[in-house]
Amino acid sequence: MTTLIINIKELLQIREIGVAKISGAAMGILPTIKNAYLIIKDNLIADFGSMDILPKTKADQTIDATGKIILPSWCDSHTHIVYAGNREQEFVDRINGMSYEEIANRGGGILNSAKNLNDATEEEIYNQSKVRLEEVMRLGTGAVEIKSGYGLTIDGELKMLRVIKQLAQNYPISIKATFLGAHAIPLAYKEDRKGYIDMIINHMLPEISKNSLAQFIDVFCETGYFTVEETEEIMNAGIHFGLKPKIHVNQFNSIGGIQAGIKHNALSVDHLEVMTPEDIEALKNTNTMPVALPSCSYFLSIPYTPARAMIAAGLPLALATDYNPGSTPSGNMNFVVATACIKMKMTPEEAINAATINGAYAMGISDTHGSITIGKKANFIITKPIPSYYQLPYAFGSNLIDRIFLEGKIIT
Ligand SMILES: [Zn+2]
Repeated sequence: MTTLIINIKELLQIREIGVAKISGAAMGILPTIKNAYLIIKDNLIADFGSMDILPKTKADQTIDATGKIILPSWCDSHTHIVYAGNREQEFVDRINGMSYEEIANRGGGILNSAKNLNDATEEEIYNQSKVRLEEVMRLGTGAVEIKSGYGLTIDGELKMLRVIKQLAQNYPISIKATFLGAHAIPLAYKEDRKGYIDMIINHMLPEISKNSLAQFIDVFCETGYFTVEETEEIMNAGIHFGLKPKIHVNQFNSIGGIQAGIKHNALSVDHLEVMTPEDIEALKNTNTMPVALPSCSYFLSIPYTPARAMIAAGLPLALATDYNPGSTPSGNMNFVVATACIKMKMTPEEAINAATINGAYAMGISDTHGSITIGKKANFIITKPIPSYYQLPYAFGSNLIDRIFLEGKIIT
């Protein structure tokens, strides 16, 4: 099956094979071709270039993209979209003056989601989660990482990871699974945190490994959740079972989580709303991708990740949604890109690099996703007719998507 797309107003994020991530000043450059063609063979990008040199092509279907822009699908490297129920009551409580930490301390927050998750059947969780997955696909996301972490019991965590695996089997979007048993200490272990960590390491991880249910290990390294020492112990155990660390750090406090992640060669360190100069220094010349989650900052009214200081220091940066029932009930990467420009002062070029190729890196899939590159997955967005790609962050809140291709097929 060959698809030829012609007269593309501008084809964004064209990259040579082997570009894994974009850092520092280079993030300000977004390579494009104006008046371009794109050829898809089966599920892969086969060729692209200027319409001036369009080769003779026998296509099964031809699409005229006059006035429209094409860019690679968003790569959302941090979500919790498998969950049960919602936390809209806490949302209203926060409007009425309670803090996220106060809600957590009274048994709300993650423990509230854990109760809903453990009360729900695997089928109910699957059916609720697939609605969210279908929604983010329609919003242009072509690869997504999904975490466990609302079970906090062996059964609950395995149930979540099986749902993630089932979604990956049933949908054309690329899905990576992360085990986040260390999301919070469950109520039953309130007085025995060591007992819960032992269960993660000695009971949950072996089962997950045996059933190949996750690629990554995550820990919520934060005051009131898991200490740096505990985070290191859990990361080490995950690595022993073949899982690469991707960890939650520096959301509310800088306690050394970034340095611990780097020490254990974490693929990414995520959140980073609170960054010291030492934290930025530590990330220089490492393989660890910093990931910002601006819709979480927006929803909780907490600081935004200091993108300008990080990019000025030569660091790469990825953008993700953090889609979850408590702090970000939204999986809209278009909104994330707009918010990064509006609130974090990232340029459109930086935000698009962060939401595509760098997001792919933060999931370990930048050899197959995140750019328009020959041989990569044919996962891309065709916009409605727009004056320029500046519209993507500028017209925040508008849906500018005309069509979505995943695995070489039109899904909407
Ligand atoms: Zn998260």
